[in-house]
Amino acid sequence: MTQQDRSTYVITDPTQILAALVGLKEVKVLHLERRGPDVELAIEQLVGEVRCPTCGGLAQVKDRPVVRYIDLPVYGSPMRLCWRKHRMRCGNRRCPKRSWVLGDRRIAAKNCLLTTRAAKWATRQIGDGRTVKEVAAELACDWHTVNDAVSTYGEALLEADPSAAVPFGMASRPGRPCGLVQRLATRSRCYRSKVAS
Ligand SMILES: [Zn+2]
Repeated sequence: MTQQDRSTYVITDPTQILAALVGLKEVKVLHLERRGPDVELAIEQLVGEVRCPTCGGLAQVKDRPVVRYIDLPVYGSPMRLCWRKHRMRCGNRRCPKRSWVLGDRRIAAKNCLLTTRAAKWATRQIGDGRTVKEVAAELACDWHTVNDAVSTYGEALLEADPSAAVPFGMASRPGRPCGLVQRLATRSRCYRSKVAS
């Protein structure tokens, strides 16, 4: 596909339209459901042959746990991403690996209750000066959920590019994730002094 094709394409297949609207790679959309004020989007990963990370043996699906994440609002309604995961088990009886759950950081990082796109958006909002309380209200979730996600992604941002975090440290105000702001401010100073020396 050329650059021009990507910017002017037409999709007519309903499944592809839905996948394009959802904007997640290598997933199948199971359903979109309204539950009171919330909209829930259910997905699963497109999984091919899975090998055991310990012995390389062929893995089998053990069960399908469902995990819910806070996603970006859709047309003003809070959205939840309902991810029907794959818990796998190794087919080799002598293998010490019992079971593991398939993940995809593009959808959601481990131990984060926000989807990756929601966590990135929340981190940008906090970086632009909004409070955790404001962002949590917009996502219709708990203060701690946003604070934890923003701390995780703020740290990752700083690891990737220390200069990108300078605005976080410079713009501390009540309601910001204080631990993160302090850490970012400290590291930003280190970074600036390194650059200056
Ligand atoms: Zn194995």
